[in-house]
This record gives sequence, structure tokens and C-alpha cells, in this order.
Amino acid sequence: MEFDYIVVGAGSAGCVLADRLSRSPGTRVLVIEAGGSDARFWIKVPLGYGFTFSDPKVNWCYTAEADAGINGREAYWPRGKVVGGSSSINAMAYVRGLKQDFDDWETAGANGWGWDTVRQTYERVEHHWENGRARGEGPLRVSDLSTRMHPFSETFLNAARDLGWKTPDDMNEGSCEGLSYYRSTVRNGLRRSAADAFLRPALKRGNVQLLKNALVEKLTFSGTRATGVQYRIGDQRHVATCKGEVIVSAGAVNSPQLLQLSGLGPADLLKTHGIDVVQNLGQVGKGMQDHLAITHHFAANRPTLNDRLGTPFGRMMVGLQYLLTR
Ligand SMILES: Cc1cc2nc3c(=O)[nH]c(=O)nc-3n(C[C@H](O)[C@H](O)[C@H](O)COP(=O)(O)OP(=O)(O)OC[C@H]3O[C@@H](n4cnc5c(N)ncnc54)[C@H](O)[C@@H]3O)c2cc1C
Repeated sequence: MEFDYIVVGAGSAGCVLADRLSRSPGTRVLVIEAGGSDARFWIKVPLGYGFTFSDPKVNWCYTAEADAGINGREAYWPRGKVVGGSSSINAMAYVRGLKQDFDDWETAGANGWGWDTVRQTYERVEHHWENGRARGEGPLRVSDLSTRMHPFSETFLNAARDLGWKTPDDMNEGSCEGLSYYRSTVRNGLRRSAADAFLRPALKRGNVQLLKNALVEKLTFSGTRATGVQYRIGDQRHVATCKGEVIVSAGAVNSPQLLQLSGLGPADLLKTHGIDVVQNLGQVGKGMQDHLAITHHFAANRPTLNDRLGTPFGRMMVGLQYLLTR
């Protein structure tokens, strides 16, 4: 098989790339994904987040090494292993990146990544839905669900206001700082993943091929130029080659791993694992910054979803409410 581009990983980034690269009809794009189909009930229904969070059928379910910075704890790192990648299992919160971060990138030399340019891209991609009104015409539905939130949420925001925090109506406007309801990538009560918004429309063009359940084991090279990938489906090994570029969009954990397995990384480390060095790149696999999420548990004096889901009758009623009202 020979393509113009090979995209490794059909996650958030890979789906967008498949869409953009396949817009010129003569360009042939191969997308290779280690996970399987996203046609699963608990991926489509937002409540399923609680199930896919630790389901190895759609999740790499990584555990980080013990970290001195968090008192020796080992953190659980879920990562999507399915078409759509982590956008198929994430919490659907839609919050734009910070204006000042993009401007910092541009100042540091990343031309074209400043806020003014990036904001236009956000606007092109988004299709907002707020109180029955639409704004924007992009492929990604961004819904305001604040009127449907549990009353505790308003209590929480009132407490934040009392303490002097900003509580903007929309975290995607202005500086993004403060506490607020976030918008959700949900459309008519169903998850709207990157696969829904970008990959499926691209597949309809006919010049994009998607391989599922195919694990890329390494990139192939001619000298230091990447020429394709070696991948495995079950016990069978295959090779795909490309005339243009191999794009590694396998996520924050797997991308550097794949580069190292391919011989791109710190030479000393690669040699200790018996990997032939293609190029000594000391920073590959370094500089990861995690953002910690900490769950607080409280006893509630008003029923929450947890109470309602705690009995078979409650689950039935929640299911019925979802079917009737989404
Ligand atoms: C549980 C969870 C909740 C989250 N909640 C939110 C949220 O509410 N809002 C938000 O903005 N962000 C959230 N995120 C983060 C967000 O989803 C990710 O930052 C984003 O999806 C990452 O995109 P990506 O393209 O870098 O990687 P991914 O979307 O993870 O895609 C990488 C893809 O590459 C595939 N792959 C990896 N290795 C190989 C290989 N060797 N061969 C072939 N394929 C491979 C993977 O299977 C995967 O499909 C959450 C993430 C998780 C896991």
C-alpha cells in the first residue's frame, strides 16, 4: 500500500488531520488506529464516561510510575484506544486553550500560532448551541447545558463568588480564568467526538482509508527520512509506505513511545533497550506535564445522580428520562 500521508492514531489530532489532508481529492491518506470501532452504546451516551474510564476494550488504562511529587502515589492515566481516541472517552468539557499561552508560543517562535490566528480557527470549527439558538457553522457541536445542571452547581458557584472568584458566563470568552459551567461537546444528548466531527465526513470523500485494530510498531526509514510504518493486526505484520509524510498523532504517551521504538530518541536510552538509533534526539520522551484531577467526596443533603443510579428502579427512571428528554 502506498499513500501520500500516513496518520498514526485516529484520536483528536488524527481525525482533524485526516479531514484537512484529504480535502484535495488527489491526496491519499491512510489513518491507522490501534483500537476498534467507536460504535458503542457507552461511548455515544454521555453517562457512559463512568464506564469507559476504566474499560480496557477502549482505553489503554495506563498507570504512571510512583511520583515523588505526589507523595509516591501511582496515578491512573486513562487514554482512549478506539476510533476517536481520547475524544471518544473524555468528559466532553469544551474549553478553549488560553489566549496568553498561544501568544507565548508565537513569541517563542511558533509563527501563526498566536491567539488572533488560533481564535479564527476555533470559530471555524465550532457550532455553538445555547438556549435553543445556534451560532457558528463548524462541524463540532458545543452545547450550553447549564440550565440542566444539579442545583448544587449553582450553590458551588455562589460560594466561589463569595470568595471573590470570577464566575464568567462562558469560559471560552475573555481570559478563561475563574469558575463556571463549561460547554460540552454534546449534540442532542449524544457525545460528539473528533471522529464524529472530522473523521466520518473525511471518510465519505473516498480518498481516506481507516485501518482499525492495527498497532503501529515502528516507523520505517530511508536514511533519516521516514518512508512508512510497520504495523500489526492480530499476528500479522504489514508495511505501509508513503510518498509524503508520516504523522505521529498517537497521543501524549504513545507518540514519544513510538518515536523511541523507531530509533528516534535519547541514544543512550535506546541502546539499553537494543534499539538501533536513527537519530539521537534527547528530548523525545521528556518534558511531560500532567494536570492532576482531584475528586472530592461529600455526603449530600439532596439527591444526586449517584442516589438515583443506586437502585434498579432509579436506573430505569434515569434511562426513561434520557430516552424521553435526552
Ligand atoms: C478520561 C478522560 C477525560 C478527559 N476529559 C476531557 C475534557 O472533558 N475536555 C477536554 O478538553 N479534554 C479532556 N481530556 C483530554 C482530551 O481528550 C485529550 O487531550 C485529547 O483527546 C488528546 O488528543 P490526541 O490526538 O493527542 O490523542 P488521543 O485522542 O488519545 O489519540 C491518540 C490515538 O492514537 C492511537 N494510538 C496510540 N498508539 C498507537 C499505535 N502505536 N498505533 C496505532 N494507533 C495508536 C490511540 O489508540 C488513540 O486512538 C480527557 C481525556 C481522558 C482520557
